[in-house]
Amino acid sequence: LFITLEGGDGSGKTTQAELLRAWLAAEGRVVVRTREPGGTEVGVEVREIVLHHRGDITPRAEALLYAADRAHHVATVVRPALERGEVVIQDRYIDSSVAYQGVGRVLDADAVRALSDWATEGLAPDLTILLDLEAAAARGRLDEARTRYDRLEAEASEFHDRVREAYLAIADREPARFLVVDASRPVDEIAGRIRARVAGLL
Ligand code: C5P
Ligand code: MG
Repeated sequence: LFITLEGGDGSGKTTQAELLRAWLAAEGRVVVRTREPGGTEVGVEVREIVLHHRGDITPRAEALLYAADRAHHVATVVRPALERGEVVIQDRYIDSSVAYQGVGRVLDADAVRALSDWATEGLAPDLTILLDLEAAAARGRLDEARTRYDRLEAEASEFHDRVREAYLAIADREPARFLVVDASRPVDEIAGRIRARVAGLL
């Protein structure tokens, strides 16, 4: 079972991924909790470049760096775990690239998706949880949590508004794969909705 969490920075993906992991583990499942970018040793190096490189990175180069991270991560971590019958809970996947590089950076969303499909040899999640939050509210949470921003977090609010709309549009096109939750709700309420949906897939 392959579950991905998506949503803007500050939407609570990491918190919900951890709560879901703990619940599934208590249910006796073997769970692999991972993320992109940065789910492998190579990925940690790619993450440092895409998030903290001091100069500009052109949008296409940025898209290729995320795709390189993803290719290596899927081949060495995600697919092997799924083949062992484990549950993979992952912060961010292809939808992040479509939303951030495709729509946020105004590259062609279909081309970015095709690149990711090639990188992953077509591995699709069974369930994607979209934590939907207004960009302004997400910004408020980040301002409380961060001492430094990464390159993407530092983008203007118009960028994050585009990303949010892109996510909602993807979820609209693929309702069977998505659970969209209002990320402004209390943590426990969101966790309960996620558990109810995942329980149906076990
Ligand atoms: O969720 P996490 O904090 O690990 O994401 C790291 C950063 O990378 C975030 O600022 C996110 O906006 C950005 N990102 C991106 N495109 C992706 C994946 C992540 O712009 N495909
Ligand atoms: Mg983040």
